[in-house]
Amino acid sequence: LVILLDSKAQQTELEWISYPPNGWEEISGLDENYTPIRTYQVCQVMEPNQNNWLRTNWIEKGNAQRIFVELKFTLRDCNSLPGVVGTCKETFNLYYQETDSEVGRSLRENQYVKIDTIAADESFTQGDLGERKMKLNTEVRIIGPLSRRGFYLAFQDVGACIALVSVKVYYKKCWSIIENLATFPDTVTGSEFSSLVEVEGACVSDAEEEADNSPKMHCSAEGEWLVPIGKCICKAGFHQKGDASPSQVSEVIKEKVQQRSIQLSWQEPQQPNGVITEYEIKYYEKDQKDRVYSTVRSKSTSATVNNLKPSTAYVFQIRAFTEAGYGTFGPRLEITTQEEATAAIVSSEQNPVIIIAVVAVAGTIILVFMVFGFIIGRRYALAGPIGLSAPVSLLKFPGTKTYIDPETYEDPNRAVHQFAKELDASCIKIERVIGAGEFGEVCSGRLKLPGKRDMSVAIKTLKVGYTEKQRRDFLCEASVMGQFDHPNVVHLEGVVTRGKPVMIVIEYMENGSLDGFLRKHDGQFTVIQLVGMLRGIAAGMRYLSDMGYVHRDLAARNILVNSNLVCKVSDFGLSRVIDDDPEAVYTTTGGKIPVRWTAPEAIQYRKFTSASDVWSYGVVMWEVMSYGERPYWDMSNQDVIKAIEEGYRLPAPMDCPPGLHQLMLDCWQKDRAERPKFDQIVSILDKMIRNPNTLKTPVGTCTRPISPLLDQSTPDFTAFRSVGEWLEAIKMERYRDNFTAAGYGSLESVARMSIEDVMSLGITLVGHQKKIMSSIQTMRAQMLHLHGTGVQV
Ligand code: AMP
Repeated sequence: LVILLDSKAQQTELEWISYPPNGWEEISGLDENYTPIRTYQVCQVMEPNQNNWLRTNWIEKGNAQRIFVELKFTLRDCNSLPGVVGTCKETFNLYYQETDSEVGRSLRENQYVKIDTIAADESFTQGDLGERKMKLNTEVRIIGPLSRRGFYLAFQDVGACIALVSVKVYYKKCWSIIENLATFPDTVTGSEFSSLVEVEGACVSDAEEEADNSPKMHCSAEGEWLVPIGKCICKAGFHQKGDASPSQVSEVIKEKVQQRSIQLSWQEPQQPNGVITEYEIKYYEKDQKDRVYSTVRSKSTSATVNNLKPSTAYVFQIRAFTEAGYGTFGPRLEITTQEEATAAIVSSEQNPVIIIAVVAVAGTIILVFMVFGFIIGRRYALAGPIGLSAPVSLLKFPGTKTYIDPETYEDPNRAVHQFAKELDASCIKIERVIGAGEFGEVCSGRLKLPGKRDMSVAIKTLKVGYTEKQRRDFLCEASVMGQFDHPNVVHLEGVVTRGKPVMIVIEYMENGSLDGFLRKHDGQFTVIQLVGMLRGIAAGMRYLSDMGYVHRDLAARNILVNSNLVCKVSDFGLSRVIDDDPEAVYTTTGGKIPVRWTAPEAIQYRKFTSASDVWSYGVVMWEVMSYGERPYWDMSNQDVIKAIEEGYRLPAPMDCPPGLHQLMLDCWQKDRAERPKFDQIVSILDKMIRNPNTLKTPVGTCTRPISPLLDQSTPDFTAFRSVGEWLEAIKMERYRDNFTAAGYGSLESVARMSIEDVMSLGITLVGHQKKIMSSIQTMRAQMLHLHGTGVQV
């Protein structure tokens, strides 16, 4: 192997060219063995349309035709990054450009030839509870035949989170040997994968070619000598003494074994067959798949091999060199370097952020702590692209901005313009009124920005005759919304403050609020669709909580739905004032609170946190799974507070998979520390979506216990006097005639119905079939439970 470039061996800056400047960045780090290395990293996963290039320095190729490029890198799983759906990628592209000389430091994309798209090879796994393990990937690509004197390699990132840990470029050659009394020179392998290079041997001194049988050997693409043909024979009067060149170096002694170096010494071969001028020490890592050899030369009978990895087994072989050429290698000697046992502290010069990697080895237990990511004063503990399994970490995970309360600005106008774009009123066309907001009408319309396609928007207007405080409070929502950029958070297009009416322009959400949307489409979605909506809301909330924003009024009415059924969190009034929510009522502790959605600690002593948002999220889950049913039905707010305090919780909505109800109950843990975090909720839902079997609720079984809360609130089916009354209670009165026509006149006869019976009535909507069937099952259970009346099916 002849190494042309080894980024890891370089301790100084690599100084490759990176373009644009906010793309690839050279960062110092430690490799998985805590050896200092130079890496290139990029992680522009939040912004769309990334095109970040990195080009190596010029690599002179020598005689090589077939070049191997070995890349070691880590790549972060997009799922492990909040708020990157749609923009985050998991591959990068490798290119090369052949030239006869260096071509300056400009980077022109069209000059590069693509080698391959590189993807991580089972690199990232994400544990159930969000712990991340990432492995170092090794990918080797071959380029050639190459015809120019040298080349550049280039890496194109299109929006992934990558750390390029090592780039090694090499070619293979067959090392000079003496065989059949002939010397064969160092030979570079051929350009094609299968080609053998034929090499003529030169007879050693006092030997000559056999007539018509000149010595030849073949150098394989893998750098091995194969197929010897012909030979040299001793000239008249000479005869071969033992092995014609130096004999093996067989007695090798380990002088000193350290963490990163090994010192060896050896005896001169028994038959030097000349004056030994040099020794060659060849070694490789024992466990490495594609055995990459390195060599060290020494003029004496000892040598120190440096730059080794700790706790790693290496295999060494030594051969001697005389005027006649190299002898054969001696036996393999395996030596393992010492274990690492120090604490390493690394700081990066490129970044104000400091990574502290403390590596403590106690026996076989290695504890790695990483503390990094102080962005705008807020600690953000995210594993870097290499993850916790290795101490190189990415310092600059973007998108972890911290939410800034606009109220902290003395001048509210400055806050608006800090976070929201001022739009020219002439770009906005109001079309119709779609709703009423607290400060004025909400309209739909079009926004046409110069150089962009026109788009549908919602326009919130501030009614005429507003006070200064109303104007400030109205624009406050824009100052909050403008700080967010996530596919599950409603996007602010801009504001109009220098004209009348004052407007806030938001992306248009065709299907309006989630609660109304679900009520309108009662029973029409599959469980997977519903869980998909919940996943989106959880991802939006994960993003908001990562930014340190506490919503305080998370409810289905404050989620908007677009035409693709994507749910987005909205309603960002001043987070501590929920005045505009009609659900909010004054509590004894002061302030208005939407009781049914709010965690007990927030009701009792106004402890609003992301954990109280998780409670509300559980209620949203319940609203979604029950198609917009009102939580706790018509119970009074006081009764709700009392029931929750006594430990009662909402029962599973009809047809709700038990796993989802369990997640709701987890969100409603009294102790807020026990509730799941939003990132855990996202991964639990993702897992359910990936394994839809976990979401199946077998029709025809009823395992739901009848809790006191359920007794209070679920209609007592045994109390209905007629089928019509029952259908009305479950909002299915539209099927009254179907029941009558099929002869189901009494509730007793209804209670005996099977799913097939329900279907045979001509009820085609699966959601309605399920709703009716589920209600029948509850009725059956209640008859058994309350009256001891067994129903035979
Ligand atoms: P709000 O003042 O935010 O509660 O808005 C009042 C009503 O206007 C909502 O209930 C929605 O029905 C509608 N609305 C608000 N924002 C949008 C939007 N971005 N797209 C579509 N409808 C919206």
